[in-house]
Amino acid sequence: MKLYDAIINATRDAAGGAKRLPERPAWPDLGRSELVMQRDAAFELGGSGCPSVNYTCVTTSALPGGEGVFLLGRDLPELKKDTAFARIVVLQTEEISEDDEGHDMIRSMEYVRYHVFPTGYMVRVSSTSYEEQVRVSKEAVKRGINFAAVGAAYLEKYRAVKGVKAAQIVFITDEAVVKALQPNAKKVEDITKTLSHILDGLPTDCSHCTLKPVCDEVEGMKEMHLGRKKS
Ligand code: SF4
Repeated sequence: MKLYDAIINATRDAAGGAKRLPERPAWPDLGRSELVMQRDAAFELGGSGCPSVNYTCVTTSALPGGEGVFLLGRDLPELKKDTAFARIVVLQTEEISEDDEGHDMIRSMEYVRYHVFPTGYMVRVSSTSYEEQVRVSKEAVKRGINFAAVGAAYLEKYRAVKGVKAAQIVFITDEAVVKALQPNAKKVEDITKTLSHILDGLPTDCSHCTLKPVCDEVEGMKEMHLGRKKS
């Protein structure tokens, strides 16, 4: 499946300077949402009006550079104030099928997006604005939290999803790059929603389909849906 490949390529162009971080044990996951009070916060990623963006792309192609955690900009121990923030996830998966397994894979990937709870790292995701804010506690900074360990926590969860072969977690705190990536988020959301509708058995009548603008723009979407009907 190559529906997201144009956006994956645009992301790589914009964030091409991201460096692979050394492997670290996953930062402890609390297993539930944690309230970090403002008075206990060291800083916020995407806070104080700083730009932020979050999206997840899927491809069946191998990931150049392989699986891992990547960073463009300053790491958590270097941050002293609120900053711009992006968390981009690129997943290599098996071909997404039309049966229950295809549905489950998409659902599980969306679930992981909102269900990683690193201790002292309070994530607030806005599905309407495609932003992600993170309040990082002073205690977590004191204990040495960094993106390599937080990314490892995300990697563990994504690798547990059936059908996911490899994952890249890319953190960005470079404001210009975060801004450049922001327009991609809505396109990704449109692709994921359209794909979900197709997997739900949407009728193949393009002339009466509200999703046509997405299919006209995204290479492979129409072929995927109409091809499924023929088979
Ligand atoms: S291929 Fe046609 S029917 Fe299917 S989602 Fe796209 S526009 Fe709608």
